[in-house]
Amino acid sequence: MTTPKTRLICPLTTPDRDSLLADIQSALLAGADTIELRLDFMDLPADQLRELVAGLDCDIIVTNRPKREGGNFTGSEDARLASLTEAAGAGATFVDVEMDVPPQQHPQTQVILSHHDFETCPDDLDDWAGQMEASPAAVNKLAFKARGPQDALRTFDIIRSCKKPTLALAMGEAGVASRILARKFGAFGTFASLSAGKESAPGQPTLTDMKQLYRWDALQSDTQLFGVIGCPVGHSMSPAIHNAAFDAASYNGVYVPLRIEPGYDNFAAFMDAVRQRPWLDWKGLSVTIPHKENALEYIGADNCDPLAVQIGAVNTVTFQEDGSLRGDNTDYAGATDALCNRMGISREQLAGKTVAILGAGGASRALVAAMRHYGAEVTVYNRTLPRAEALAQEFGAKAAPMDQANSLQSQIVINCTPIGMHPNIDACPIDEIPSCVEVVFDTIYNPLQTQLIDKAQKAGCLTVSGLDMFVNQAVAQYEIWTRQQAPREVMANVVLEKLSQTCQK
Ligand code: NAP
Repeated sequence: MTTPKTRLICPLTTPDRDSLLADIQSALLAGADTIELRLDFMDLPADQLRELVAGLDCDIIVTNRPKREGGNFTGSEDARLASLTEAAGAGATFVDVEMDVPPQQHPQTQVILSHHDFETCPDDLDDWAGQMEASPAAVNKLAFKARGPQDALRTFDIIRSCKKPTLALAMGEAGVASRILARKFGAFGTFASLSAGKESAPGQPTLTDMKQLYRWDALQSDTQLFGVIGCPVGHSMSPAIHNAAFDAASYNGVYVPLRIEPGYDNFAAFMDAVRQRPWLDWKGLSVTIPHKENALEYIGADNCDPLAVQIGAVNTVTFQEDGSLRGDNTDYAGATDALCNRMGISREQLAGKTVAILGAGGASRALVAAMRHYGAEVTVYNRTLPRAEALAQEFGAKAAPMDQANSLQSQIVINCTPIGMHPNIDACPIDEIPSCVEVVFDTIYNPLQTQLIDKAQKAGCLTVSGLDMFVNQAVAQYEIWTRQQAPREVMANVVLEKLSQTCQK
């Protein structure tokens, strides 16, 4: 028996018939193969519903969700069930019936037996699935609110354990992986909205994102999994960059956003859940604010790049073939290589160079550690002097107040403050570039051409942009995980395209 392919279902709540017909055509054009008609949002008389269902050349699910299950239908239960029987008679491929409706009241067609919890991931999820399996319905549907992305993994447990075709979804931003990866785990289907704002439940990606961003058509049962852990994570460019790279290289992988609330315990709960399920094929994770320190603690210093340990932050997690974890920091590597490549030198040739680093936060820490590691003489300039002093002391550098940066005496200047970043694009951390400066590296990438870069170019310096650093760290992650050369140009173009949508300059 061949496994039926996972349906890409577009739920439609469009109230009137003409707009609904237009939306159905748009959904099919955007790649949906099944349409769900949400009668509880529609004003569709029985004869129009019959005509519509009979006239459509695609599979149809008809749903009329009552308030008690998070829907919009407020009429009598008899009227609600009558509308579903009507839809079944008109030829709907499936009707969705809630689990508390007795089987003798189910319409005579293929029934999707559904149950929802909009508050949490229930402890008795397996009992729900057991009841559904024991019922005469053709398809099981379980949907619940995800507390963290580990709850998305529960949906895959359920899909794998059920004998009937099963749709299991973890709602909300934290559960979005359950929707994107449904096809890998052989789910009956997943829901994707026609456009942003037209979701029928929280966390639904759009059809366009499913097809173009999350590689829907390329997903297979052995597709390798990657993702970015952060909070917030919704605006991360990483899914676009890595999925475009997988696409360009025909690499069998997909990369998803994983929102994990701050706190070590939340981070550890997801990591533990992944490690308990080797069949997930999870290969790599990017880690961003606020979890880089948690990643180092979870993996343990012995399994991390020594410089990542010194910096105190891991931004790249690799699941190795023997089941162990490895932690790296491609932020420092990406920044160091951006600088060295532009200067045409090796990392080792940084030895003895004088470097002024502006700022004493997270980015500065990675750069100070890397520059010192390769033997450069570093001075840290910061608005809050004690912070600069503490950082300088830790890595054997000098410290100075930010207002002395105008008279700095270094060959290389690296800006690790947000001064000049969108929307404050007219700001600049130093008034004039001192004549001793040969290279200026601004870690800001929005905008690409900051005031600092502008001044440096006018002063005849070599310049390095934050874009190179940003692309480099993603390229390094790709190469660590896949052991293949990354399609750098494709990845850089994705960043440029995303920036062109947000840059004001
Ligand atoms: P962070 O930890 O918050 O540190 C910010 C630093 O900038 C602090 O030292 C802070 O000084 C200083 N600062 C902030 N506003 C200032 C102001 N108005 N005047 C003077 N100093 C100011 O931030 P981060 O994570 O290090 O990021 C810093 C910048 O690096 C970001 O804005 C981003 O542009 C860039 N970055 C780029 C990449 C990339 O891939 N290209 C990656 C990461 C970061 P105090 O100590 O006095 O508060």
